[in-house]
Amino acid sequence: MTFDHDLKATVRTIPDYPKQGILFRDITTLLADARAFRRAVDELVQPWAGLKIDKVAGIEARGFILGGAVAHQVSAGFVPIRKKGKLPHTTVRIAYSLEYGLDEMEMHVDAIQPGERVILVDDLIATGGTAEGAVKLLRQIGANVVAACFIINLPDLGGADKLRAMDVPVRTLMAFEGH
Ligand code: AMP
Repeated sequence: MTFDHDLKATVRTIPDYPKQGILFRDITTLLADARAFRRAVDELVQPWAGLKIDKVAGIEARGFILGGAVAHQVSAGFVPIRKKGKLPHTTVRIAYSLEYGLDEMEMHVDAIQPGERVILVDDLIATGGTAEGAVKLLRQIGANVVAACFIINLPDLGGADKLRAMDVPVRTLMAFEGH
Protein backbone atom coordinates (compact mmCIF):
# COMPACT_ATOMS: atom_id res chain seq x y z
CA MET A 1 0.00 0.00 0.00
CA THR A 2 1.26 3.47 -0.84
CA PHE A 3 0.94 6.45 1.46
CA ASP A 4 0.99 10.03 0.21
CA HIS A 5 4.38 10.88 1.70
CA ASP A 6 5.96 7.82 0.18
CA LEU A 7 6.37 8.66 -3.50
CA LYS A 8 10.10 8.02 -3.31
CA ALA A 9 9.49 4.52 -1.98
CA THR A 10 7.64 3.60 -5.18
CA VAL A 11 10.82 4.06 -7.26
CA ARG A 12 12.79 0.81 -7.57
CA THR A 13 16.58 0.87 -7.65
CA ILE A 14 18.41 -1.73 -9.73
CA PRO A 15 22.16 -1.88 -9.03
CA ASP A 16 24.62 -2.38 -11.90
CA TYR A 17 22.07 -1.80 -14.69
CA PRO A 18 22.67 -1.22 -17.58
CA LYS A 19 26.28 -1.54 -16.50
CA GLN A 20 28.49 -2.00 -13.46
CA GLY A 21 28.42 0.87 -10.98
CA ILE A 22 25.15 2.48 -12.17
CA LEU A 23 22.16 2.61 -9.83
CA PHE A 24 19.25 2.48 -12.25
CA ARG A 25 16.22 4.38 -10.91
CA ASP A 26 13.28 2.38 -12.28
CA ILE A 27 10.01 4.34 -12.39
CA THR A 28 7.90 1.46 -13.76
CA THR A 29 6.99 0.62 -10.15
CA LEU A 30 5.82 4.22 -9.59
CA LEU A 31 3.80 4.17 -12.84
CA ALA A 32 2.14 0.88 -11.89
CA ASP A 33 0.93 2.33 -8.57
CA ALA A 34 -2.27 4.28 -9.32
CA ARG A 35 -1.97 6.74 -6.43
CA ALA A 36 1.74 7.34 -6.99
CA PHE A 37 1.27 7.89 -10.73
CA ARG A 38 -1.55 10.40 -10.19
CA ARG A 39 0.36 12.21 -7.47
CA ALA A 40 3.54 12.43 -9.54
CA VAL A 41 1.65 13.88 -12.53
CA ASP A 42 -0.24 16.39 -10.34
CA GLU A 43 2.88 17.52 -8.51
CA LEU A 44 5.08 17.79 -11.59
CA VAL A 45 3.06 20.70 -12.96
CA GLN A 46 1.67 22.10 -9.70
CA PRO A 47 3.60 25.44 -9.95
CA TRP A 48 2.11 26.04 -13.42
CA ALA A 49 -1.43 24.85 -12.73
CA GLY A 50 -3.82 27.57 -13.86
CA LEU A 51 -1.30 29.15 -16.25
CA LYS A 52 -1.76 28.74 -19.97
CA ILE A 53 0.38 25.93 -21.35
CA ASP A 54 0.14 25.27 -25.08
CA LYS A 55 2.24 22.09 -25.40
CA VAL A 56 3.94 19.48 -23.28
CA ALA A 57 7.08 18.03 -24.89
CA GLY A 58 8.12 14.54 -23.74
CA ILE A 59 11.53 12.94 -24.30
CA GLU A 60 11.56 9.35 -25.66
CA ALA A 61 10.64 7.02 -24.11
CA ARG A 62 9.69 7.45 -20.44
CA GLY A 63 8.96 11.13 -21.03
CA PHE A 64 6.14 10.03 -23.35
CA ILE A 65 4.26 8.24 -20.58
CA LEU A 66 4.57 11.11 -18.11
CA GLY A 67 4.26 13.85 -20.71
CA GLY A 68 1.04 12.43 -22.14
CA ALA A 69 -0.55 12.34 -18.70
CA VAL A 70 0.72 15.83 -17.86
CA ALA A 71 -0.58 17.23 -21.17
CA HIS A 72 -4.02 15.80 -20.43
CA GLN A 73 -3.88 17.25 -16.90
CA VAL A 74 -3.12 20.82 -18.08
CA SER A 75 -5.28 20.59 -21.22
CA ALA A 76 -2.28 21.05 -23.51
CA GLY A 77 -1.18 19.29 -26.68
CA PHE A 78 1.59 16.67 -26.56
CA VAL A 79 4.74 16.76 -28.69
CA PRO A 80 7.26 13.88 -28.89
CA ILE A 81 11.02 14.45 -28.94
CA ARG A 82 12.41 11.29 -30.52
CA LYS A 83 15.62 9.55 -31.37
CA LYS A 84 16.68 10.27 -34.95
CA GLY A 85 14.94 8.52 -37.81
CA LYS A 86 11.62 7.80 -36.07
CA LEU A 87 9.47 10.78 -37.05
CA PRO A 88 7.78 10.63 -40.48
CA HIS A 89 7.42 14.34 -41.38
CA THR A 90 10.08 17.09 -41.81
CA THR A 91 12.19 17.35 -38.66
CA VAL A 92 14.67 19.56 -36.86
CA ARG A 93 17.57 17.67 -35.30
CA ILE A 94 20.19 18.31 -32.64
CA ALA A 95 23.20 16.37 -31.37
CA TYR A 96 23.45 15.94 -27.61
CA SER A 97 26.01 14.47 -25.28
CA LEU A 98 25.63 11.11 -23.60
CA GLU A 99 27.93 9.66 -20.99
CA TYR A 100 30.03 8.24 -23.82
CA GLY A 101 29.80 10.07 -27.12
CA LEU A 102 26.94 11.79 -28.93
CA ASP A 103 23.44 10.96 -30.11
CA GLU A 104 20.80 12.94 -32.00
CA MET A 105 17.18 13.79 -31.23
CA GLU A 106 14.46 15.19 -33.45
CA MET A 107 11.12 16.97 -33.45
CA HIS A 108 8.67 17.70 -36.22
CA VAL A 109 9.43 21.17 -37.51
CA ASP A 110 5.76 22.21 -37.23
CA ALA A 111 5.11 20.61 -33.82
CA ILE A 112 5.20 23.97 -32.06
CA GLN A 113 4.29 27.44 -33.27
CA PRO A 114 6.67 30.32 -32.45
CA GLY A 115 5.93 31.78 -29.03
CA GLU A 116 3.94 28.81 -27.74
CA ARG A 117 4.39 28.08 -24.05
CA VAL A 118 5.93 24.65 -23.57
CA ILE A 119 6.72 22.42 -20.58
CA LEU A 120 9.42 19.79 -21.08
CA VAL A 121 8.96 16.44 -19.27
CA ASP A 122 11.23 13.46 -18.64
CA ASP A 123 11.54 10.89 -15.86
CA LEU A 124 15.02 11.77 -14.60
CA ILE A 125 17.71 14.41 -14.96
CA ALA A 126 21.31 13.33 -14.47
CA THR A 127 24.06 15.25 -16.33
CA GLY A 128 21.38 17.26 -18.14
CA GLY A 129 22.82 16.52 -21.58
CA THR A 130 19.53 15.11 -22.86
CA ALA A 131 17.36 17.90 -21.46
CA GLU A 132 19.78 20.60 -22.61
CA GLY A 133 19.54 19.24 -26.16
CA ALA A 134 15.75 19.19 -25.91
CA VAL A 135 15.60 22.81 -24.71
CA LYS A 136 17.87 23.93 -27.56
CA LEU A 137 15.72 22.06 -30.08
CA LEU A 138 12.51 23.58 -28.69
CA ARG A 139 14.02 27.08 -28.76
CA GLN A 140 15.27 26.50 -32.31
CA ILE A 141 11.65 26.24 -33.51
CA GLY A 142 10.57 29.23 -31.44
CA ALA A 143 9.12 27.61 -28.31
CA ASN A 144 8.90 29.56 -25.06
CA VAL A 145 10.19 26.91 -22.63
CA VAL A 146 8.27 27.71 -19.45
CA ALA A 147 9.71 24.89 -17.35
CA ALA A 148 11.35 21.47 -17.32
CA CYS A 149 9.87 18.83 -15.00
CA PHE A 150 11.39 15.54 -13.84
CA ILE A 151 10.33 13.04 -11.22
CA ILE A 152 13.93 12.32 -10.20
CA ASN A 153 16.95 14.58 -9.82
CA LEU A 154 20.50 13.29 -9.45
CA PRO A 155 21.88 16.61 -8.13
CA ASP A 156 25.48 15.41 -7.86
CA LEU A 157 25.59 15.28 -11.67
CA GLY A 158 24.57 18.94 -12.05
CA GLY A 159 21.91 18.67 -14.76
CA ALA A 160 19.24 20.77 -13.03
CA ASP A 161 21.77 23.57 -12.42
CA LYS A 162 22.78 23.39 -16.08
CA LEU A 163 19.17 23.99 -17.16
CA ARG A 164 18.68 26.81 -14.65
CA ALA A 165 21.79 28.46 -16.12
CA MET A 166 19.88 28.41 -19.44
CA ASP A 167 17.02 30.33 -17.74
CA VAL A 168 14.75 27.27 -17.59
CA PRO A 169 12.88 26.84 -14.27
CA VAL A 170 13.34 23.22 -13.12
CA ARG A 171 10.89 21.17 -11.07
CA THR A 172 11.87 17.80 -9.57
CA LEU A 173 9.98 15.69 -7.03
CA MET A 174 12.76 13.74 -5.34
CA ALA A 175 16.56 13.44 -5.35
CA PHE A 176 18.99 10.55 -5.03
CA GLU A 177 22.63 11.00 -4.13
CA GLY A 178 25.33 9.73 -6.45
CA HIS A 179 24.72 8.54 -9.97
P1 AMP B 1 21.28 12.91 -18.69
O1 AMP B 1 21.27 13.32 -20.14
O2 AMP B 1 22.64 12.57 -18.18
O3 AMP B 1 20.60 13.96 -17.80
O4 AMP B 1 20.45 11.56 -18.58
C1 AMP B 1 19.07 11.59 -18.56
C2 AMP B 1 18.44 10.45 -19.33
O5 AMP B 1 19.11 9.20 -19.07
C3 AMP B 1 17.00 10.29 -18.93
O6 AMP B 1 16.23 10.07 -20.10
C4 AMP B 1 16.99 9.10 -18.00
O7 AMP B 1 15.87 8.30 -18.24
C5 AMP B 1 18.30 8.35 -18.26
N1 AMP B 1 19.09 8.06 -17.04
C6 AMP B 1 20.29 8.59 -16.70
N2 AMP B 1 20.75 8.11 -15.53
C7 AMP B 1 19.81 7.25 -15.08
C8 AMP B 1 19.67 6.43 -13.88
N3 AMP B 1 20.61 6.40 -12.91
N4 AMP B 1 18.55 5.69 -13.76
C9 AMP B 1 17.59 5.71 -14.73
N5 AMP B 1 17.65 6.45 -15.85
C10 AMP B 1 18.74 7.21 -16.05
